[in-house]
Amino acid sequence: MKRAVIIEGDGIGPEVIASAVQVLEAVSPGLEMVEGCMGLQCHTRTGSYLPQSTIDLLNDSDAALFGAITSPADRADYRSPLLSLRKSMDLYANIRPVKRLHPSVGLVDLDVVIVRENTEGMYTGEEREVPGGIVTERKVTEYACRRIVDKAIELCRADGGKKVTCVHKSNVLRRSDGLFREVFLDRMKGSGLEASELLVDAAAAALVSQPRKLDFLVTLNLYGDILSDEAAALAGGLGFAPSVNLGEKFALFEPTHGSAPDIAGMDLANPTAAILSAAMMLRYLGSGNAADRVEKAVPAALEQGIRTRDAGGSLGTREFTRRYLEVLSSC
Ligand code: ATP
Repeated sequence: MKRAVIIEGDGIGPEVIASAVQVLEAVSPGLEMVEGCMGLQCHTRTGSYLPQSTIDLLNDSDAALFGAITSPADRADYRSPLLSLRKSMDLYANIRPVKRLHPSVGLVDLDVVIVRENTEGMYTGEEREVPGGIVTERKVTEYACRRIVDKAIELCRADGGKKVTCVHKSNVLRRSDGLFREVFLDRMKGSGLEASELLVDAAAAALVSQPRKLDFLVTLNLYGDILSDEAAALAGGLGFAPSVNLGEKFALFEPTHGSAPDIAGMDLANPTAAILSAAMMLRYLGSGNAADRVEKAVPAALEQGIRTRDAGGSLGTREFTRRYLEVLSSC
């Protein structure tokens, strides 16, 4: 039996994860789910943002589904437990498929997979004072570039895709992004896939103006973070965007959105991104048919007008989930 750790987190995390858990129970009764804790609420309860007991649970399980965390605004020494986890479990690839799921949501007919390097770049967390300011270290290694490019090639092939586009800024960051670009061109040789490249500013524009020309984007940490939020907004909003942090032995699935403190606890959150993240987890755990059902039910529900407010409807999170589950039962 496969085992998944369920981590609700903060803000709207508990609300959207509660929906996703109901969906998992409906389509995959054999999946064992255990609760772990991480984030601000967890810190209030246990004194730690990421307790050892959660790390142990993760190490003993096959995958995890996580909501979101709120960062404390007033702690200069705070280090995100999610970033620590990505690093300590070597979850080096952040995969964000972004697809417009119904013509009535979003602005652009987008269907793109963003493969983002997840361990270095601008997210090293290394900042130091220099006279008159702060210097942030930005790290790009050949090893990390190779791993992420190879993962993009693997995913593109598995999905029947034809082209991988490398997104960088090597005209300015000649050495670091230049290295990423070189590794990309080298690894793509003989892959059987078309190698394409875009500067990150051009990629931001292309998501709007030429969405169907993009297929798989592979990019560095910060660019991927920004482009995937842009893509999500274009395709229907953060409420529809799932993701996974993938390593060689473990995967942590999470909606792309944050903890949305502005709507937390108000039964307003769209749980679709969490539900779609759960579907990605099912596929990862070998339950492809169950994942297909969950995914198919999303446009079917939208078609029937089953929507939360961010998608132009009026349903609260709980009522949306109840009605979505009805649709799911016939998919
Ligand atoms: P954090 O600091 O945790 O990143 P945030 O509010 O800055 O939180 P997001 O949580 O990504 O960032 O939210 C950005 C905006 O999108 C907010 O106005 C929020 O209400 C809205 N939003 C995010 N997720 C959802 C969702 N699942 N359903 C509805 N609205 C959402």
